[in-house]
Amino acid sequence: MNAEIIAVGSELLTPQRLDTNSLYLTERLNALGVEVVAKAVIGDDRARLRDAVRAALARSEIVILTGGLGPTEDDVTREAVAEALGRPLVWRQELADAIEARFRRMGRKMAEINKRQAYLIEGAEALSNDQGTAPGQWIEAGPGHYLMLLPGPPVELKSVFERECLARLERVVPPLAIRTRVFRVAGMPESDLDQLISPVYKRYKNPATTILAAPGDIQIHLRARAETAEQAEALLAELAPQIEALLGDNIYSRNGEPLEGAVGALLVARGATLAVAESCTGGMLAERITSVAGSSRYFVGGLLVYNDEMKEKLLGISAELLAGHTAVSQPVAEAMAARVRQRTGATFGLSVTGYAGPEGGDAEHPVGTVYIGLAAPEGTSARPFRFLGDRERVRRLATQSALDLLRRHLAR
Ligand code: ATP
Ligand code: MG
Repeated sequence: MNAEIIAVGSELLTPQRLDTNSLYLTERLNALGVEVVAKAVIGDDRARLRDAVRAALARSEIVILTGGLGPTEDDVTREAVAEALGRPLVWRQELADAIEARFRRMGRKMAEINKRQAYLIEGAEALSNDQGTAPGQWIEAGPGHYLMLLPGPPVELKSVFERECLARLERVVPPLAIRTRVFRVAGMPESDLDQLISPVYKRYKNPATTILAAPGDIQIHLRARAETAEQAEALLAELAPQIEALLGDNIYSRNGEPLEGAVGALLVARGATLAVAESCTGGMLAERITSVAGSSRYFVGGLLVYNDEMKEKLLGISAELLAGHTAVSQPVAEAMAARVRQRTGATFGLSVTGYAGPEGGDAEHPVGTVYIGLAAPEGTSARPFRFLGDRERVRRLATQSALDLLRRHLAR
């Protein structure tokens, strides 16, 4: 079965608001084995909405609308759907009573306009809303076609969907299992990765492969659909090992965990600890490491040494070294890593120093030049990197590369 989602509301067409309801609904529908094949965002416009509902129903068995069930004139979902189906709206006294009772419980009197929320499309079942006034609606639009009208506020949507829609959907959706596998990859550009693995995954329609790329971080999602979970797993078991073999240790996570979590797990497994010394990332590296719950088991702390004076005072890096090589250099990155390791007693010291831009740098070391140092029991080294992009991107890539450098060292 296929589904479409229509998010209703003119505010969702402004730069300030994003339709997030459909992400939640997609996750839920996928778990039931229902594929979402189209999504739309439609403003508070009755005719446009009516046309969108008709088109969606002609293509898909399940159509879910969210929003526009409020009491005001601009909430047109009920009217638009009634028109699309060619059915009247019918007054339901028990819904009006329930809405009135809700207002009474809040010590308020129901406004006249709230009566609009007591109309159901003919043939609809009301879906109770324990978080708001507008009930949802479940409509059998035709043989094997189902339409849901759900409230827009995310808490209301979730509550109505969980309590009222899930069980109804389970009764009408033929069982279909969807199984996914996620690989996360660092230290490899997206184009290289795709060149390497596309000849393999393009041979398969099922599992379907999706590649999501962020700076220095690529996710590969494999989605298999079958009648049973075992069959879906078997489909994954054919494709996944081929991709794993090609990517090798570029894969840092097989459970969706971010890089900082994967590094943490490796440190725990080794009973090792970590300290950081940061310059151009201004604490971002420590922020990422400590975003992992339980990071106190391996992260001892760090120093933020932004200018030369702090590198000298807090880390004891000599003025001669700084003057001779500048702060953005291999020897200084090595010294930062070695000193923070020494001063904290951690097993590993990790350092970052570079030009994040947009100003700074020189002919030899342009903006985007970053040195990352790693001090380990086996010795200290630093690697130069040259990142392209704006300040935010350079800093993000610097933290990603630092974590990946340590990960590769730990995985050896
Ligand atoms: P209400 O009775 O509150 O008017 P409603 O069903 O008419 O309910 P809307 O007015 O469309 O809902 O939306 C109410 C709130 O929910 C708004 O703050 C809106 O931004 C938010 N919202 C609506 N649709 C979505 C969506 N698709 N994703 C995220 N937020 C949404
Ligand atoms: Mg509204």
